[in-house]
This record gives sequence, structure tokens and C-alpha cells, in this order.
Amino acid sequence: MKDNCVFCKIIAGEIPSYTIYEDDDFKAFMDISPASKGHTILIPKQHADNIFDLDETVASKLLPVASKIAKALKAELTCEGLNLIQNNGEIAGQTVFHFHMHLIPRYKDDNVVVKWVQDKYEGEPLDQLSEKIKKHL
Ligand code: 5GP
Ligand code: ZN
Repeated sequence: MKDNCVFCKIIAGEIPSYTIYEDDDFKAFMDISPASKGHTILIPKQHADNIFDLDETVASKLLPVASKIAKALKAELTCEGLNLIQNNGEIAGQTVFHFHMHLIPRYKDDNVVVKWVQDKYEGEPLDQLSEKIKKHL
């Protein structure tokens, strides 16, 4: 548990939440400021600020849980789609610095905006860039 982390406090029960799923490693609860009906936050219980320090064993268990919750949301809400969004760092829109995934059900004419401009990057050629990145893997 990290001091002054809102999500660690939710895990500890110090801050109440509308929990929809919990196991030894994860907890999922309703977002306090939902972007759409059913907006859910999924977090690992082990604190990590973001994806850059997320334990890879924890990471490997994450998607099966996200998938299970997505299916439950679809079954109950009959949403047409769902965005799985995960922000890392202030520049990427992260405001709570405990790794989390957003599950945002999507409906016709909802007010959710998830957008970037395609073909905006025109810098280094992709053959060179891919080779450089590969070296770190
Ligand atoms: P971020 O911008 O970091 O990706 O998303 C943080 C999310 O956490 C926001 O959607 C925000 O509404 C939600 N949130 C922040 N504080 C609380 C809280 O105390 N309880 C709940 N349930 N959600 C919270
Ligand atoms: Zn935390």
C-alpha cells in the first residue's frame, strides 16, 4: 500500500466503492465520475504507479479478468461496444497514479470521446525506429 494513494485506500476499505469484482490480485469498481453507464475501473491490489513498473506476473493475469468483466458489462447493459483504456503518466491523461484499466461501455450517441489523429507522426522512418525499440526487448 502506498501512502495517500486513493486506489490503495479503496483496496483497504478506507474509501468506499461499488465493487463488482474482487479476487486475491484484483479489484474492479464503478468509476466515481462515469463517462458512460457502467464505467468500471480495474486495478491490481499490488500498487504500481503505472505500466512501467507493473509486475509482469500481475500483468499476465490482468486480461482474463478484464475480459470477464467486459462480458458481464455487456450482458447486463447491452452496450454496443466497450473501450478498454489505460493511461500512463500525466501527459497521457493519468490522474490517479495507481495502475488501472478503464472499461467504458459504449452506446449509440453517448458522450465518450477517444481520439487521436492518424498519420500525425512524420518523423523517423519506421524501419529504423522498430530496430531501435527492438533492442530493449
Ligand atoms: P485516470 O485519469 O487516472 O486514467 O483515471 C482515474 C479515474 O479514477 C477517473 O475516471 C476518476 O473518476 C476515478 N476516480 C478517482 N477517484 C476515485 C474514487 O475515489 N473512487 C472511484 N470509484 N473512482 C475514482
Ligand atoms: Zn495504490
